[in-house]
Amino acid sequence: MTIPFNKPYIPWSSFRYLVREAFSGTIAGNGRYTKKCHAFFEDRFGFAKVLMTTSCSDALEMAALLCRIEPGDEVIMPSFTFMSTANAFLIRGAKVVFADTLPDVPNIGPGEIERLITPRTKVIVVVHYSGLACDMDRIMEIANRNGLFVVEDAAHAIDSFHRGRPLGSIGHFGTFSFHETKNIISGEGGLLMVNDREFEKRAEIIWEKGTNRASFYRGEIDKYGWVDIGSSYLPSDSVAAFLYAQLVRFDKIQAARKKVWWNYFDLLKPFEQKGFLKCPVIPDFATVNGNIFYITVQEPGTRDDLMAFLKSRGIIALFHYLPLHSSPYFLDKHDGRALPNTDRFSSTILRLPFYNSLGKNRVKVVVEAINEFFSSR
Ligand SMILES: *Cc1c(COP(=O)(O)O)cnc(C)c1O
Repeated sequence: MTIPFNKPYIPWSSFRYLVREAFSGTIAGNGRYTKKCHAFFEDRFGFAKVLMTTSCSDALEMAALLCRIEPGDEVIMPSFTFMSTANAFLIRGAKVVFADTLPDVPNIGPGEIERLITPRTKVIVVVHYSGLACDMDRIMEIANRNGLFVVEDAAHAIDSFHRGRPLGSIGHFGTFSFHETKNIISGEGGLLMVNDREFEKRAEIIWEKGTNRASFYRGEIDKYGWVDIGSSYLPSDSVAAFLYAQLVRFDKIQAARKKVWWNYFDLLKPFEQKGFLKCPVIPDFATVNGNIFYITVQEPGTRDDLMAFLKSRGIIALFHYLPLHSSPYFLDKHDGRALPNTDRFSSTILRLPFYNSLGKNRVKVVVEAINEFFSSR
């Protein structure tokens, strides 16, 4: 028996929507299904304005454009993240300043952010790792006090909350990913949340290659033209049709994923007392959204041995981010600060198999294999 790391959930209705969409006349961007997807997110989560994008990476690039990043502007973000978080701002000439994570949660902490602010700082980017919220009250307070933008890279954090507020809606901009490894998927795809109405029009313009085409189609202007910089950030309507099949099943998908998460948590929590491993720490302001389940172990060697042991049993568990501050591209650009919590998380974290249809019996198989590994040491 093998237990893969991920199994993308693709309901049959995806194909029905795709076929319907193909014959409805619009398969370019901003068609019927794109509008349905936008309406879903605005109604369900109360986002002020959303725009579907070709990826979360592109939504982050749009956020950098909307913040009007110029060469030399400083952007504070965690080192423990995906390279897209940094690329989006580096492409615009920003100086990325990597922050360490908290000791117990692999999220950027307010104290570290505050220490790194200089007169050149323009943006704080937070990443809600595995869907667990960052300390948004304190981070927004710091941002407002210093006149900074906050961008939430909420790639993991769909349907997760900070004190009841949806993640992605708290900073000036938020981004989701619909990559096949996330909760809700379209293969590749993403969403930009524009939380301040002041940026709504410009967001639409950047989305449509720097044109005011969206206003034109709403009948607000009688011809459209090139009015700003932008790119083709809008996905084909076929991507939206595929996504829509997932949105129709949103509650079902989320219930299944949260169940997997809590099954792991409940079965692995007793292992903490034995000193084998640690389960995720859930801050009191955060919620669980069933994105991934990770454990941390004491030593990097233990993590690698456990990963190999599980693999020998056909169970695919994976490490996660290699720190960006010491990656080949960034090493000589980093200011040399040690980021010990980042390094420790990177070398001791292990993500366990996680997908919608992972039943409790399979979770038990994974947990039993972990138990066997530690008991035989
Ligand atoms: C997956 C991910 C992204 C990128 O998402 P894409 O849709 O693949 O571009 C960005 N940031 C984080 C934290 C991610 O996990």
